[in-house]
Amino acid sequence: MDVKLNERGLLVVISGPSGVGKGTIRKALFEMPDNNFCYSVSMTTRKPREGEVDGVDYFFVSREEFERRIKQKQFLEYAEFVGEYYGTPLEYVEKKLSEGKEVIIEIEVQGALQVREKMPEAVFVFIVPPSKQVLYDRLMKRGTEQTKDIEKRIDKAEREYHLAYKYDYIVVNDDVYNAADRIYAIIRAEHAKTERSIHMYTKLMEGKVNGKQKH
Ligand code: 5GP
Repeated sequence: MDVKLNERGLLVVISGPSGVGKGTIRKALFEMPDNNFCYSVSMTTRKPREGEVDGVDYFFVSREEFERRIKQKQFLEYAEFVGEYYGTPLEYVEKKLSEGKEVIIEIEVQGALQVREKMPEAVFVFIVPPSKQVLYDRLMKRGTEQTKDIEKRIDKAEREYHLAYKYDYIVVNDDVYNAADRIYAIIRAEHAKTERSIHMYTKLMEGKVNGKQKH
């Protein structure tokens, strides 16, 4: 049982090129013991792939609907990726952070950079493949996109590699469980950072609050 020194949860941005394994790592992260994670389901105009479920994998909407929500400022961030919109609904993220949950979002690079501007206190993790070849092989084998789209995704990955320096952490996806384990360690360490915990710690020492027990 830990004493929690942060009232607000942590926003964890997992980003990196398409096909690098962000989704699989995220799922492994949710299997970690004693976690307090919530996944923010994104909204997209892309068509569902076989087996994808509306409201679980994405909220699938039309372009008109997405653009209406952009106008209403309903997104924390959004981006156009290979001709389709993808965005993070703001309300859910805010609600869960204020409940003290860790909110995990899994997004591409342009969106991550927008979050960097709006919520600099978030933690930014860039996932990279062990080699470029591994990424190409994965995209080819996945079989979910047409060749034209795979080429666009590879092209985009080439440009995204150069933006890794804008992130707080780089995690190599050499093995899904190792990568998830490293991200979990990052989250725990981030919580212990003085700038995140000094406020609550001071209040505790002054006897103004009781240590919140985290089970
Ligand atoms: P896919 O079509 O393969 O599901 O996703 C394409 C890319 O969009 C992936 O890199 C994925 O991480 C990213 N993505 C998914 N949801 C969001 C989102 O809400 N915002 C942004 N900016 N990117 C997203």
